[in-house]
Amino acid sequence: MTAKSELSGGPTLPQERRVVTAIPGPKSQELMARKQAAVADGIGTVLPVFARRAGGGVLEDVDGNSFIDLGSGIAVTSVGNSAEAVVRRATEQLNDFTHTCAMVTPYEPYVQVCEELAELTPGDHAKKSALFNSGAEAVENAVKIARAHTGRQAVVVFDHGYHGRTNLTMALTSKNMPYKHGFGPFAPEVYRVPVAYPYRWLTGPENCAEEAAAQAIDQITKQVGADNVAAIIIEPVLGEGGFIVPAKGFLPRIQQFARDNGIVFVADEIQSGFCRTGQWFACEDEGLVPDLITTAKGIAGGLPLAAVTGRAEIMDSAHSGGLGGTYGGNPVACAAALGAIETARELDLPARARRIEEVMKPRLEKMAERFDVIGEVRGRGAMLAIELVKPGGKEPNPEATAALAKACHQQGLLILTTGTYGNVVRFLPPLVIGEDLLNEGLGILEDALASL
Ligand SMILES: *Cc1c(COP(=O)(O)O)cnc(C)c1O
Repeated sequence: MTAKSELSGGPTLPQERRVVTAIPGPKSQELMARKQAAVADGIGTVLPVFARRAGGGVLEDVDGNSFIDLGSGIAVTSVGNSAEAVVRRATEQLNDFTHTCAMVTPYEPYVQVCEELAELTPGDHAKKSALFNSGAEAVENAVKIARAHTGRQAVVVFDHGYHGRTNLTMALTSKNMPYKHGFGPFAPEVYRVPVAYPYRWLTGPENCAEEAAAQAIDQITKQVGADNVAAIIIEPVLGEGGFIVPAKGFLPRIQQFARDNGIVFVADEIQSGFCRTGQWFACEDEGLVPDLITTAKGIAGGLPLAAVTGRAEIMDSAHSGGLGGTYGGNPVACAAALGAIETARELDLPARARRIEEVMKPRLEKMAERFDVIGEVRGRGAMLAIELVKPGGKEPNPEATAALAKACHQQGLLILTTGTYGNVVRFLPPLVIGEDLLNEGLGILEDALASL
């Protein structure tokens, strides 16, 4: 280890897996006891070790264990933790000023982020953006803007969809436990319709796109009335629902229906955006040009920032002063976003995401042949998953999923689970992870599957 890497994380951290204590180690256990005493139980923990430094493809804990990171803090640190350009630009901004409130006296980095978003998001129409602190806040604002634009109230979302934990976004989110249970009543005028989930479509994957779209459109038309719908919101690849890639053709049909009926089509790219799926935005895969796009997570290398970007005439529907918030588009977060975008361009992160798929998918598919417990391998780019089932059928297997995650954690591999049925292991490596670490991680996963 070099002297410098002793001092800091980020790009200088040694890129190696290292397990030197039981997981969790003694220092993490001590901190966990303090957490239990001081932090509300509602804030859960996936892997009970406390982070000390992180960078590239690893996360180091306070006991000196170094984990291969296949989670990126839930698809956030796609450019790596403490990426050089993020730290450099955020530090410069910290030294200049930390806050003025963008609604009181604006500053250039806010405008620059909005200019970048206009350039990076699909479509060559005139675009504008508004910046916020969290993904949920961006989704809420997309709804406000769509309602102001259409003069309508209803919002349509999809089975297995996830849009956040605030009151309105809990209503938009599909899964009860843990996101909604006991937290109602929820916001009205939210309607949920089927999504084209090929693996679990009852008549099989072949006609899934057409059948699901027909059912969704029928329900909207008959139960809500297309004229009452302000917005249709969908994740182009569904994240918390289980990395569900809607069957090809489904998304274009839904968008066409929205266009035909004056409904604002919103792509929630908070998890799938910013190079994650091998393109800047997942909706590019089928050539979609959404009216509005919500972004967050990967946008700013770990600093809290979110955005709604879309057609200028829709974005301008809200009256002056109708959107905003004290911290929305904080200057340090904006500087970090400019650093993350600079990094993504410089390293061609969409290409890196595609390379990660090339390395991971064939190996995951081999594992699926070897282990009955893997029902399906799916996803795009560096947003990949395996769905675990009871052997011989498709019954969800959340027990094996939890056991697999735990076994990997014990070996110094950080993986996350997800899915409506809690039976999906998702892989969200930082896009800058080294191929050796990726392969080592897959080896640990394979051994853990064999030991189940
Ligand atoms: C994480 C996520 C959100 C919510 O973002 P927060 O920053 O946690 O509020 C919304 N939509 C999708 C698709 C997400 O993955």
